[in-house]
Amino acid sequence: MAKTMARKKTAVRAGSKKQAALKRRSTRRMSPSAKVAPRAGAARRGSRAPARGSRGKYVYFFGGGKADGDRTMKDLLGGKGANLAEMSRAGLPVPAGFTISTDACTLYYKQGRRTPASVDREMVENLRRLESAAGARLGDRDNPLLVSVRSGAKFSMPGMMDTILNLGMNDETVEGLKARTNNGRFAYDSYRRFIQMFGSVVREIPKAAFEHEFEGVKQAVGVHFDTDLDEDALRDVVERFKKVVRKRSGGDFPQDPLEQLRGARDAVFRSWNNARAIEYRRIYEIPDSIGTAVNVQMMVFGNTGERSATGVGFTRNPATGANEFYGEFLINAQGEDVVAGIRTPQPITELENVMPEAYRQLRQITNRLEKTYRDIQDFEFTIQDERLYMLQTRNGKRTGYAAVKIATDLVEERLITAKEAVLQVDPESLSQLLSPVFEPKAWQTLPVATKGLPASPGAASGQAVFTADHAVEWTRQGKQVILVRKETVPDDIHGMFVAQGILTATGGMTSHAAVVGRQMGKPSVVGAGALHISERTKSFTVNGQTVREGDYVSFDGLTGEVKIGQVATKPSEILQVVAGEMNPQDSDIYQRFDKLLTWADKFRRLGIRANADQPDQAETAYAFGARGIGLCRTEHMFFGEGRIAIVQRMILADNEADRRKALDELLPLQRKDFYGVFKAMHGEPVTIRTIDPPLHEFLPKREDLMVEIAKMEAQGKDGKEVEEKHALLRRVEQLHEFNPMLGHRGVRLGITYPEITEMQARAIIEAACQLAKEGTHVIPEIMIPLVGHVKELRDQKAVVDRVAAQVIKEQGVAVNYLVGTMIEVPRGATTADEIAQEAEFFSFGTNDLTQLTFGFSRDDIGKFLGAYQDKKILDKDPFATIDTVGVGQLVTLGVQKGRATRPKLKIGVCGEHGGDPSSIHFFDKAGLDYVSASPYRIPVARLAAAQAALQVKVGD
Ligand code: PEP
Ligand code: MG
Repeated sequence: MAKTMARKKTAVRAGSKKQAALKRRSTRRMSPSAKVAPRAGAARRGSRAPARGSRGKYVYFFGGGKADGDRTMKDLLGGKGANLAEMSRAGLPVPAGFTISTDACTLYYKQGRRTPASVDREMVENLRRLESAAGARLGDRDNPLLVSVRSGAKFSMPGMMDTILNLGMNDETVEGLKARTNNGRFAYDSYRRFIQMFGSVVREIPKAAFEHEFEGVKQAVGVHFDTDLDEDALRDVVERFKKVVRKRSGGDFPQDPLEQLRGARDAVFRSWNNARAIEYRRIYEIPDSIGTAVNVQMMVFGNTGERSATGVGFTRNPATGANEFYGEFLINAQGEDVVAGIRTPQPITELENVMPEAYRQLRQITNRLEKTYRDIQDFEFTIQDERLYMLQTRNGKRTGYAAVKIATDLVEERLITAKEAVLQVDPESLSQLLSPVFEPKAWQTLPVATKGLPASPGAASGQAVFTADHAVEWTRQGKQVILVRKETVPDDIHGMFVAQGILTATGGMTSHAAVVGRQMGKPSVVGAGALHISERTKSFTVNGQTVREGDYVSFDGLTGEVKIGQVATKPSEILQVVAGEMNPQDSDIYQRFDKLLTWADKFRRLGIRANADQPDQAETAYAFGARGIGLCRTEHMFFGEGRIAIVQRMILADNEADRRKALDELLPLQRKDFYGVFKAMHGEPVTIRTIDPPLHEFLPKREDLMVEIAKMEAQGKDGKEVEEKHALLRRVEQLHEFNPMLGHRGVRLGITYPEITEMQARAIIEAACQLAKEGTHVIPEIMIPLVGHVKELRDQKAVVDRVAAQVIKEQGVAVNYLVGTMIEVPRGATTADEIAQEAEFFSFGTNDLTQLTFGFSRDDIGKFLGAYQDKKILDKDPFATIDTVGVGQLVTLGVQKGRATRPKLKIGVCGEHGGDPSSIHFFDKAGLDYVSASPYRIPVARLAAAQAALQVKVGD
C-alpha cells in the first residue's frame, strides 16, 4: 500500500471528530460531503457469554498464591476480579480477598435490589477465610482487618462506579489500628476517610456536606493542608462526620463491620445504575445487563508515612505507545489521591531513587505481567512500609496512535503474532490517526501560555467552557469547545465527550481527565498548574492573562503546550503522506499504520470499496486501500461549478426537447467526471448510480424564492428577471411533495424521464470506451436506485442496454458493463429472487432500507432518538449501526433470494453502515462480497473486516 498511499497530491482533510452518538450527523443524501462521523473510540461490545461455573457459586476467593478464579473469567468476576485471581495464582504479592460475582449483581436486581441470603452466606464464609489468611479479624479491637470494597465490571469503566476503602473501621478498631501502627494520626485519618466514603456512597450524602466540616476543622486549627491536621483535629473531624451521617441519613454511622460490608456491597451493586455509569455504557455500547462484580480485599496502606506510597502506571506509554515505563506515584497517600488529581504526583521513574528495592520489584513484576497478558498493562500498586503490593493489572487503554505503535512493536518483539496485532487494535481508534494537527506557522506565532502534561495527543482549538453542561449546550449550537476544569470527575463525562479537547489545572497522567481523554481519543492536557481557574466567574488566568468563557484556547496534546487564541489545524501525518505531501519513509506512524492494515488485508474476506463521487475522493479512497467504488452518487456531480444552472434548466423544461438540450450540455461534464473516477480506481470496479433525489432538491427553496421576489418587487424591479423567478417559483411549487423521501425519486425519475437515464448511461459508457482506447479496461456497474419491483428495473435496464449498444457501436470498442440495483426498499428485499432475474449485482442501501423498515425519517430521527435510547427502546442509532434483528433480516433474505436466482450474484452494501465495525461483522456473516464506506472510513473498514473474518470483536 505504501506506494499507492503516497501517490495522491490533492489536499485532504480528516473526517469530523464529532462523536456520532451525541452529535448524530444526518446521513442526508444530498449533502455532498456527507461522511459518517467517526464514533467514540469504542470497541463494539458483545453481549455476555453465559457465566462459566456459576452454578450455586457466587463468591471466589484469592490469596496466598491460590485463587478460585482465573483471568479467563471476566464475565463472572469482572476484569479486576479475574486479574487479581490470575496475579494471585502467579504468586505475585496481591493482598488476599474475594470477588462477589456479576451473577450476584444480576440476582440483586432481579430480587428488587436485595442480595439473596445464599450470596450473603457465601460472602461471610469467604470473609472468614480471608480473616484467617490475613491473620486479622474484621472488627477485632486489637488486630483489626480492614478491607476495600471495589466495583469491577467485565469492561473497565474508570471511575464510574463506587469504591469504599478502610472498611472495618469503628470507634474500637481505630484504637486497635493506632496501637498496632503506633500512629494515631494515621488511624484517625483512615477512620475519617472511611466515614466520608461510607456516608457518600452507601448513605448517598453529598460529598460537600463532609467537605464543609473538614474545612471547618482546618480553619479552626489554622492549617492549610490536610496533612497538617494532627490526631486531635482528626478526632474532631471523625465526630463531626458521624453527626453529618446521623443528620443527613437519619441513621447512625454503623459500628458493626458486617453491617458496613453489606451496605458497601449493595451500594456498589447500585452504582452500576448511577447516571454516569449508564451514560458511560451508552457511549461505549456496553450492555446494561452484564452487571458488576464486587471485590473485597484486605487493605494495605500507602499512607502510613514516608516509607509508604501508592501509584499507578503502564508498562508502555499509553499516549504515544513508546516502550517506556510510565506512571506516577505519591508518597504517603491512598490510591484515590492519585486518580482524583488532587495532588500532582511524581513520575514513576523517581521511585527508583526513593525506594530502589520496591522499584526493582515493580519493574520485574510488571514486565512479567506484560509477557503473560501479551499486551500493555495498566497497574496499581501500594507500598506499605517499603513492601510492594499489586492491587490491579489490566490491559491498558491507549490512544489510537499508541494502539498502532504497541501492536506493531509487540509483533517485532515476538510477543504476539500479526494476527493478534490485527485483533488488538480497535478499528474505531484508527480515526484518531487521521485527526488534524496544528498548522505549524500559525501555532508558532502564538506564545506558549503554559505547559501541562501531554495526556492524550492531538491538536485542539476551541472556545473555553468551564462546565460539562455548557460544553454540551455550546456544542449543540455548533460551537467547538475546550472543556477547562480544575480536574474532571466522572460526572463530566458528557461534556468531555463533545469537547474538542480537555484541559485541567491539576492531576497527573493517570488522573481522570487523562485516562478518559485518552480512551476517547480526545486531545487532553492535564495538570497545567499555572492555570488559575475560577468556576464561579467562568474564567481562568495564566501569566497575567485572563481567559473568559467563549475566548479561544488551543493546545497540543502531544507536547502539553497551551496557547491563548485560535489556531488553524492541518491534516495528520498519515493524511500528509496520503496527499503526497510527505514521504512515507519520513513518517514512522504512517509505516506502522500501513503495516497493520496490510496484515489485516491478509485475513479479511470482505472486499473494501468506497463511496466516492469525485476523482479526488476516489484517489484518497484508493490510497487508503479501497479497491473499487461501491457507490458513486451521480447527483453530487450536478453541484459542481457551473452545473447547477444547467440542471435547473433541465428541470424547468416543460417539454422533452428542451430537457434533452440541457442534458446534452451535461453529458460532456458527466463523461469527464466518470473518466476521472475510473482512472483514479486503476481498473477496479466502479458502481455508478443513476440519479436518485427528488428534483426539487436541485432548485432553490420556496421560501427563499418568495423573499427574493418580494425584495425585487419592492425595489421596483420588473421585466424578464422577475418573470424568470416567478417561473422558477411555479416549478418549485409544482414539484413540492408531502413526503419527498417516498416521492418522485430514484428509479421513478428514470421511468418518467428516461432521457436522464439515457444521458447518464451514455456518459458512463463513453468514458469507459475512451479508457479502453487508452488501454485501461473498466467494467462499469450501472446501478438503478430504489427499485421495489422487477419491472421497474426491467424498464431502466432496457434503456441502459439500448444506449450502451449504440455507444459501443459508435465508438467501435468493446466495453463490458453490468446493470444492477440497490436493495433499499423492503419490497426489493422480499422479491429479490424476481429482481435478480434482471439485476447483475445488488448493493444494499441500508440508509433507505433502515428508513423504510422502521418508518423513521433519516433526517428527523434526531428529534426522538435520544428519548428512544433513554427509554431503552433502542440501544443504538439504527442509521449508524445496522439493526440486525429487523433490517438485518431483510438483508439476509435479500442475499438468500437473490442468490437463489443467480448463485454468483455479486452483493455489497453502500449505506453508511458499510463503515461501521459492528455492522461489518454482520455483513461478513450475511455473506456479502464487499462493504463500501466513505474514504476516511476505509482504514476502519479494512481492520473491522479482518476482525470479522477472524470472528472476534475487540473487547470480547
Ligand atoms: C442508501 O440508501 O443506503 C444509500 C446508500 O443511498 P442514499 O444514501 O444516497 O439514499
Ligand atoms: Mg438510498
